[in-house]
Amino acid sequence: MTGLRNLFTVDLEEWFHICGVGGGLAAEHWDQLPSRVESTARVLLDMLDRAGVPATWFVVGWVAERHPRLIEEILAAGHDVGSHGYAHRRADDLGPDAFRADLCASVRALSPVVAKPITAFRAPEWSIVERSRFALTTLVEEGFTHDASMAPLKIVGDTSLPRHPHLRRTPAGDIIELPPLVADRFGHVMPMGWGWGLRMSTARRVLQTMEAANRRGIPAVLTVHPWELDPDPPRVRLRAGLWFSHYFRLSGFRDRLQQVVADADFGRIADISVSTVSP
Ligand SMILES: [Zn+2]
Repeated sequence: MTGLRNLFTVDLEEWFHICGVGGGLAAEHWDQLPSRVESTARVLLDMLDRAGVPATWFVVGWVAERHPRLIEEILAAGHDVGSHGYAHRRADDLGPDAFRADLCASVRALSPVVAKPITAFRAPEWSIVERSRFALTTLVEEGFTHDASMAPLKIVGDTSLPRHPHLRRTPAGDIIELPPLVADRFGHVMPMGWGWGLRMSTARRVLQTMEAANRRGIPAVLTVHPWELDPDPPRVRLRAGLWFSHYFRLSGFRDRLQQVVADADFGRIADISVSTVSP
């Protein structure tokens, strides 16, 4: 895989798209909650534009329906658009039929503004796991070529999963899996360059981990959410694990991210093709 560059990805969702919460954050209340997706996505668009970094934006279909101009801006800036599902539901909670329905709804929501076929997918919360492997077959059947939903990390996935782009075989054909960057630290596998990993680490350590992966011919896959760039996100009560992933060390996040996008070399998801990944 020598020569492949890193990938920058974005999960384009609202701050209230949190799986498994009810009460005031349940789906029936989403239209009444304050929207922050446009302002925060534009900060990110600006940052990527200044650094000349192309990204793949995995868009929640519900967001695409309400903010089509934003999707047009993302495309006009030269980025790629994929699906993050329609209603931000976990693949393993949906089951096979509902997963397909949610996936197709997301494609329908994007198709009025995205001329090209949607072929890249990320499940909410890295939720293609052992019990939801059916989702990979569904993705191939629906014309998807790239998936980025399987994290080699204990808390959200499985540490035995490969850490490099690889082919996953399904009864319907192959799909390219793009795992997020992780690192071995303190005897554990840690996220690096995505989610709370990028918030816990320094930009320098993220860049060093990316370089170490690149030296082995592995492109690093980074991921952010626009709400992580919100200087003053709406505060809601969440259980400890969710609080950590949504609010921990947001201060300074923009600066650390800025340094990473300025100093690393990023390519496009289409650069990673079947002929360049190992089985
Ligand atoms: Zn998400």
